Amino acid sequence: MEKQQFNLKIDLKELPRKTCDCGSTTFAPCVELGYITALQSPQGKAGFLAIQQGIYLCVTCGKPADLSLPQEKDNVIDLPFSKRNGG
Ligand SMILES: [Zn+2]
Repeated sequence: MEKQQFNLKIDLKELPRKTCDCGSTTFAPCVELGYITALQSPQGKAGFLAIQQGIYLCVTCGKPADLSLPQEKDNVIDLPFSKRNGG
């Protein structure tokens, strides 16, 4: 039996973009770098591990992205067929 997975077909090009106050839509993820010793490392080599912080900075102005979600009422998609009585 196959393991059931979410397999939503999402066209990433169609998703509305988060826009920074400066107008940029490109953000860079922030990481902390954790030092790992050779004894701790599965590969037996000391180094740094990137630890995701869940923070995204605008690549243009450096301002952190506001990741609060839009209110539900602002989130309603206005579908074209809902306007058919408008004419
Ligand atoms: Zn910006």
